[in-house]
Amino acid sequence: MRCPFCSFQDTKVIDSRLVTEGDQVRRRRECNECGERFTTFETAELVMPRVIKGDGTRQPFDDEKLRGGILRAVEKRPVSVEDVQKSILGIQSKLRALGEREISAQVIGEMVMNELKKLDQVAFVRFASVYRRFQDVSEFRDEIERLESND
Ligand SMILES: [Zn+2]
Repeated sequence: MRCPFCSFQDTKVIDSRLVTEGDQVRRRRECNECGERFTTFETAELVMPRVIKGDGTRQPFDDEKLRGGILRAVEKRPVSVEDVQKSILGIQSKLRALGEREISAQVIGEMVMNELKKLDQVAFVRFASVYRRFQDVSEFRDEIERLESND
């Protein structure tokens, strides 16, 4: 890590600690040349899997799309921004944990439904009805029962 004060190449780590629930490492560094100290934050760069659409095409994982879908579902519902953010982070870490290079959009949809179900039943039903494009009410009810029995 280059020193931001004198651009010297060689700096040493004098302190290291985990921040934000272990996802990030905060390091205090000291320049071996000028002796200045500075802080760096390091996060593991984990690649999100590519998304396989229903028609077989592949797309890069889209954070904004995921957020948009969840926000639409929780619109005017008593769900905090913080809870939405937690759900998004939860889905992302589950996707990474799978360790797959490609993942079907359907699997992501199921993850979103499971998160929404924990947050708000109405939001869950809204998302599920759009996502699943249910043909009739009984099909929809079967789906909810199936998801509930997965707990
Ligand atoms: Zn320096």
